[in-house]
Amino acid sequence: MSRPSIILDSALDAVGNTPLIRLDRIAKHEGLKCNLLGKVEYTSAGGSVKDRIAKRMVEAAEKEGKLIPGKSVVIEPTSGNTDKGYSVIITMPNKMSLEKEAALRALGAEVVRTPTEAASDSPDSHIGVAHRLERSIPGGIILDQYRNLNNPLAHELTTGPEIIDAVTSTPSTSARPSSGKVDVFVAGAGTGGTVSGVSQAVKKTHNAACTVIGVDPKGSVLALPSTLNKADDPSTYIVEGIGYDFIPVVLDRHPGVIDCWIKTGDTDAFDAVKLIMRLEGLLVGGSSGSALAGALAWLRSDAGKTVAQTPGLNVVVLLPDGIRNYIGKEWFLKMTLQAEPTPLAKIIADA
Ligand code: PMP
Repeated sequence: MSRPSIILDSALDAVGNTPLIRLDRIAKHEGLKCNLLGKVEYTSAGGSVKDRIAKRMVEAAEKEGKLIPGKSVVIEPTSGNTDKGYSVIITMPNKMSLEKEAALRALGAEVVRTPTEAASDSPDSHIGVAHRLERSIPGGIILDQYRNLNNPLAHELTTGPEIIDAVTSTPSTSARPSSGKVDVFVAGAGTGGTVSGVSQAVKKTHNAACTVIGVDPKGSVLALPSTLNKADDPSTYIVEGIGYDFIPVVLDRHPGVIDCWIKTGDTDAFDAVKLIMRLEGLLVGGSSGSALAGALAWLRSDAGKTVAQTPGLNVVVLLPDGIRNYIGKEWFLKMTLQAEPTPLAKIIADA
């Protein structure tokens, strides 16, 4: 069943090709009859779903002659990095984890922190600072994941087809029934590249009737109808990588691309992270919790309850990155090192 093992030419060849894993224990815990499947992106070389777009945006810019090795300075707001002989500057809001900054610096990037509370269109935001640096640094170029069509295209050409391939290649058996289709796809939206690109791949080439669900944190404005984005939601939230205060160009909100939006809070997300770790042994990050929490909320809703109770229907949840990006974050420490002693810890103390 596993892929043949061959020698890869570089880390770039270890981007993507991530596994689709049954979340059977969570399904059982939640009383679901459908198949709950997690697309686990932390196994990609850089540990994130974003590896795919970094690779594609850089390679496309190279083909277009926009990037010159040894000369260009790649500047990008938020995370995303690659080692192809370019200097890299990442501008990143303060709220993003120290672990991400350390990993980026280990890869040779320079990291510039910006105030989390700065509005995206302000000169002080990670986007504003990136544009200032692009203007003032010779060779500076922003590939711009918010506008670059190679972002959703990376998902339309890799993430989506991988999911379709895994679902269609797995036979339906009486023990594990399958419709043979991707019936529901759930992903959180940051730039929206993942959810938009996978939707295109699934609906255009595989199953036009697939229900695509976008997950947006409370406090962000991406969801439709916009009444879902309540004014009294907190304006900041802790989960990293999803949600914005503007609508990125690559987030395709045309009718029929994203069929439904679910809003999730930090607590929903972190509880779901704990569930995935404990029940499935998968060490996922915060936005994976948001995606799972969104999927479970939809499956419990009137819109989703028939799917939830139909054996063989395939509900795919995209899990964007791993917990190692967040080990030092307060929410994770509270869940682990600072948690109440377990019954086993009490037994150890008394032994
Ligand atoms: N989760 C994490 C941890 C991310 O960094 C991102 C990208 N910002 C996403 C989810 C959302 O992906 P996309 O930008 O494709 O919507």
